[in-house]
Amino acid sequence: MSEENFMRVPNAGQQRKTVYTEAMEIFHRAADAMGLDRRVRLELEEPDYEHIFYVTTKLKDRLVPVAPDAAKSFTDLQVTKVRDSHGLERLADGKIILNGKALLGSDVNIRGGHLRLEDGTVYQLVPGDIQRFKAYRVQHNQARGPYKGGIRYHREVSLDLFKALAAEMTWKTAIADVPFGGGKGGIQLDPRQLGKEELQAISLRFMYKLKQLVGPNIDIPAPDVGTNSEIMALFLRQFSDGERERHNQRGVITGKDVRIGGSEGRTKATGQGVAYTIEDYYADRGESVKGKTFIVQGFGNVGSWGSLILQNMGAKLLAVNDADGTVYNPDGIDAGELMRYVNENPKNLKRSVLGFPGAQAISKADFWQVKADIAMPAALGGEITADIAEKLNVKLVAEGANGPTTPDADRVLEKRKIDLIPDIICNAGGVTVSYYEWIQNKRMESWTEKEVDSKLELALKKNYRIIRDIARNNPRKSDMHDSRAYCIGKQVDTRCAAMVLALKRIEAHYMLEGFSQ
Ligand code: NAD
Repeated sequence: MSEENFMRVPNAGQQRKTVYTEAMEIFHRAADAMGLDRRVRLELEEPDYEHIFYVTTKLKDRLVPVAPDAAKSFTDLQVTKVRDSHGLERLADGKIILNGKALLGSDVNIRGGHLRLEDGTVYQLVPGDIQRFKAYRVQHNQARGPYKGGIRYHREVSLDLFKALAAEMTWKTAIADVPFGGGKGGIQLDPRQLGKEELQAISLRFMYKLKQLVGPNIDIPAPDVGTNSEIMALFLRQFSDGERERHNQRGVITGKDVRIGGSEGRTKATGQGVAYTIEDYYADRGESVKGKTFIVQGFGNVGSWGSLILQNMGAKLLAVNDADGTVYNPDGIDAGELMRYVNENPKNLKRSVLGFPGAQAISKADFWQVKADIAMPAALGGEITADIAEKLNVKLVAEGANGPTTPDADRVLEKRKIDLIPDIICNAGGVTVSYYEWIQNKRMESWTEKEVDSKLELALKKNYRIIRDIARNNPRKSDMHDSRAYCIGKQVDTRCAAMVLALKRIEAHYMLEGFSQ
């Protein structure tokens, strides 16, 4: 190996293709287009820190449904009647957690460790075991401010994925022009297969270990896939309990419930931001969102709020795909009713759109071919592949999710003249309102929803306009925005333009402050 090769961080061309190198393709493309300073490029090419650690917890006893064949030997087993039905916590994988003294005072009939519940199913009693979960926190870059990024609970996570998502936060915070860097982390688990108390124990243990890495001026986690304001509340308590100035620490976590220092408008902020950027995309063309049709992948926080807000702007939701199925109605799906079906129906254990009475079930393949004006991917990354991009029957892809479109798919969209609102501006509403939450915590203030929404609208539309100007190489100053410092003397595609804006803002810190030695 030559000395030069030994000293250098390998560039993307020398590495095997991974989720991270794929995500960084756009970084290299924009860095080349704008002539990013060489040292800044090396600083940004890999994260500052990559942490991996483990969290252990004791799981509870479970009732595990037995296969129909094995159940046959229990046909004469009398039904067990549970007095306190709250003692049984049903999980998405069909297992049931026994909470507290669930079986005390009940009419229990156990044979060979098996029992039959009133639903007719035979279950085996399996004692809870101790389990270990792999946890991550990647801190990508802090040139512009403390690391900032969500915590994901999902079965399919990896260091590589968190590196990609942390880098994406560095770009996004720069684009949103909030004084943060980028980070991301989480735990490899499926939250739907764990009980509430188990998730609490895992979350507290996770923050116990994470505490030395985060802080209101160091690294600020927030919700992401599989986590929510309840988990954020636990993180906050675990971080600040016992601290002398614990109320000064409130800004260590954003995405909190408004009653404990969260911001009005934060829950819907990402979906709200997606809707604002779509509104601005049409305004730029002299059109309106009113009367447009759209399809959505993922009906969690981003997908559901994005849908509801677009619907309130006069657009019509035609189809929704999530992890468990797809629903379609050519006459329109009521986003509010679908939200209630997913979130407020205790029988809908998977919190899925599947089975929604106001629509018909279709396949995932058919979902991507539904004719509409807008597709809003709001689930996981890499879902729009080149194949799917060839089939899409829409005019605009608005990226609610992080990294939903692969680089190959990007090229197909460009070829097919399907427009794109890139994730780093489209879904930046979440981190923008997280910043508002952080300021409110620092100042011990509380802003109204109207105040938050109008600040968010201005922030996103202003930066989206700068991105469009960079793409068109149209440096100018208006009442609302100033793109003169960012245009690079040539036209580029929108995704590249968004990355140029991010890199220019980050580069300024290194060029003006210099490098500590
Ligand atoms: P969530 O957990 O609330 O919802 C995720 C949704 O995606 C669910 O409806 C789930 O069923 C669906 N899904 C999961 N796997 C799927 C699959 N294989 N096919 C189809 N659907 C699938 O998550 P969220 O907070 O809404 O985040 C969604 C996306 O938005 C993620 O990419 C996340 O990184 C990004 N994002 C979230 C925020 C935020 O504030 N929550 C901010 C910026 C970006």
